[in-house]
Amino acid sequence: MAPSKVFTGARVVLPTGIVDGGRVIVDGTRIAGHAREDAETVDVRGHWLVPGFVDLHNHGGGGASFSGTADDVLTAVGTHRRHGTTTLVASTVTDDMDTLVQQAGLLSELAEQGEIAGIHFEGPFISPCRKGAHSEALLRDPDPAEVRKLVDAARGRARMVTLATELLGGIDSVRLLAEHGVIAAVGHTDATYEQTVEAIDAGATVATHLFNAMPPLGHRAPGPITALLEDERVTVELINDGVHLHPAALELAFHHAGPERVAFITDAMDAAGDGDGRYLLGPLQVEVADGVARLVDGGSIAGSTLTLDRAFRRAVTIDRLPVEHVVAALSANPARLLGLDDRVGSLEPGKDADLVLLDEDFALKGVMRRGAWVVAPQLG
Ligand SMILES: [Zn+2]
Repeated sequence: MAPSKVFTGARVVLPTGIVDGGRVIVDGTRIAGHAREDAETVDVRGHWLVPGFVDLHNHGGGGASFSGTADDVLTAVGTHRRHGTTTLVASTVTDDMDTLVQQAGLLSELAEQGEIAGIHFEGPFISPCRKGAHSEALLRDPDPAEVRKLVDAARGRARMVTLATELLGGIDSVRLLAEHGVIAAVGHTDATYEQTVEAIDAGATVATHLFNAMPPLGHRAPGPITALLEDERVTVELINDGVHLHPAALELAFHHAGPERVAFITDAMDAAGDGDGRYLLGPLQVEVADGVARLVDGGSIAGSTLTLDRAFRRAVTIDRLPVEHVVAALSANPARLLGLDDRVGSLEPGKDADLVLLDEDFALKGVMRRGAWVVAPQLG
């Protein structure tokens, strides 16, 4: 039988608040309410104990991407796991339909094996005006039949599709996704405020990296940002790497949406957890310098090199957000959105033993996934 452990002396972040000197019991792969008699006690000496992170939007890491082979996917997953992400939705980038259908098949198998929590299709149904690091020649309108084709290719593992809902077929595609239990995310969009409200009313529930790849907020043209921030039904993704968003913009969004409607994401590309140099994002060349990824052609920001442990540390130490709100944005909120909150997203008995251990400076010291150490802490 798998070992039982009792973590003591932790600053535990629970859905109800922070418990100083709290205990978390792990029995096998799950968190337990009671310790077995033979349980090993592990004193974590005042470290923070928080739930494993859930990343809704991630293209790769460790020099590999989710557009690559099964080995590439495992390399990227492993890299982010070592940075505390125990649940990860793999994001594709714009490519031709045949390539995406094939990739959906490969990713659905890895989802079946429990390596990833599903697939997020970012593109090709996005606006050429807000294409960011997506190939313009491969963009297309969100024809519901083609959206359906991708969802079917994912064999029940499609979790989210980002689309520019103002394009021809956009609203019908949102309805189709909602009917299939797939999140419709508004993003890479040139929509007006009114068009975005229509998309939300049709069933869109996520803002793909709010602020990035959409029109700015204007006082006569409030745009998608205002519509997405003000509606209680929408969760907003934020890339908290200090590059994609000014800290004041992040604070504005966090303050307005409230702690229950924010999900911190990485939008990471291959260079996350790796280093500077030349990489590919789908078919496009990217240069990473000082941890900032930009398209070689045109210089658009091309994803991030962020890992969620860094997003955590930044949110607490630079943005000065309360720890429990940061934990919600990194774990509980995305878990709920994915419908996985019965298994992950908080430190409650019965859930998977997915834990992250952080020291008093919020540096990552340990990661446990389903009861097994991914990064074993040195507590000596
Ligand atoms: Zn992305």
